[in-house]
Amino acid sequence: MRERLSTRVAAASAQRDATHRHRVIRTITQRAGVHCTVDGRTLLNFCSNDYLGLSQHPQLIAALHAASSAGGTASHLVCGHTAQHAALEAELAAWQHAPRALLFGSGYMANLAVLQSLLGAGDVCVQDKLNHASLLDGARLAGCQNRRYPHADAAGAARQLAAHPDGAALLVSDGVFSMDGDIAPLPALAEAARAHEATLYIDDAHGAGVLGDGGRGSLAAAGLTIADAPLRLITFGKALGSVGAAVVGAADVIEHLRQTARPGIYTTALPAAQAAVTRAALALVQADAGDALRANLHANITRFRLGAAQLGLPLLPSQTAIQPLLVGADADALALSQHLETRGYWAAAIRPPTVPAGSARLRITLSALHTAQHIDGLLEALTNLPRTRI
Ligand SMILES: *Cc1c(COP(=O)(O)O)cnc(C)c1O
Repeated sequence: MRERLSTRVAAASAQRDATHRHRVIRTITQRAGVHCTVDGRTLLNFCSNDYLGLSQHPQLIAALHAASSAGGTASHLVCGHTAQHAALEAELAAWQHAPRALLFGSGYMANLAVLQSLLGAGDVCVQDKLNHASLLDGARLAGCQNRRYPHADAAGAARQLAAHPDGAALLVSDGVFSMDGDIAPLPALAEAARAHEATLYIDDAHGAGVLGDGGRGSLAAAGLTIADAPLRLITFGKALGSVGAAVVGAADVIEHLRQTARPGIYTTALPAAQAAVTRAALALVQADAGDALRANLHANITRFRLGAAQLGLPLLPSQTAIQPLLVGADADALALSQHLETRGYWAAAIRPPTVPAGSARLRITLSALHTAQHIDGLLEALTNLPRTRI
């Protein structure tokens, strides 16, 4: 007998409720930097990816206001590719010291595009267990073998590559892990890829703009060039304060993606206005203003980590803007998040399947716009918690 979808949906909903996995969407009615108004109350935001506070920067807003079209009008290959898009691609390539860049509507689509365009049956994608969901989905879509190695284990990656000597191979890792905040062992991964004739693909969603000279990202910070790490993802929705993404790499691979990547071909281009916004962000992150914002952010990271260590809080070992406070049980993470909200702080609880079962956490993120008082206030709110909670 045919299963009714309504029955299935009801069962899934009941299951979410029973396991504290129902997610509640919050509506922001006003935002000014790290201050958000939610349900009529102003909260200090500690869970945004706007690490440099660029999303409301006057130069980005001015770029948006200067636009003469609100829409994307068509896909890039038909008639949606404007001079703003072309300039952004050229500027991204120059910034990354890479031959070329190709725009996508989002990082999620770009990851589907790269894996699906470059890999197929008989090929292998070797990737970190904690990689972003879009990379797991991309491998599934590609129809290749998908082999996951233990987190940050470059020797494990090398073993997986050695076990699949035939077919093409991509070695894929987040540069900065989105839910843990730690940085991948990039030089060792580059070495493993070289030794096994695989192509290294680094998703730098959380490194671009914040790490390395000129905000070039985790690879630049690790001293790796395009020769060591030939393919990378830059997303615009995090430190760059915009939206969209680009894959950066060798001219022939980029041209192949332009010609064949379905998530790039069968979709409307982002509006030229949005490309202009990203160009403004890119100019800022490479300027003295970017250095100043990165210095603020790193001072905030240091202050938070020192304070948290004094309180004995179970922070994960992260040196980036992502500072997860490990809780464990889903219900406890929710309770802690709600406790902080009563004190005026917003740090969302992150639960499975976004993170592995039993590792629910508060994913606290820091911004260049937080002040020392904001950080100290959050630490104060994390003091004297019932010990069972964390
Ligand atoms: C956010 C994120 C993406 C997706 O990028 P969007 O532009 O938001 O779709 C991809 N990879 C990682 C590691 C991310 O954190």
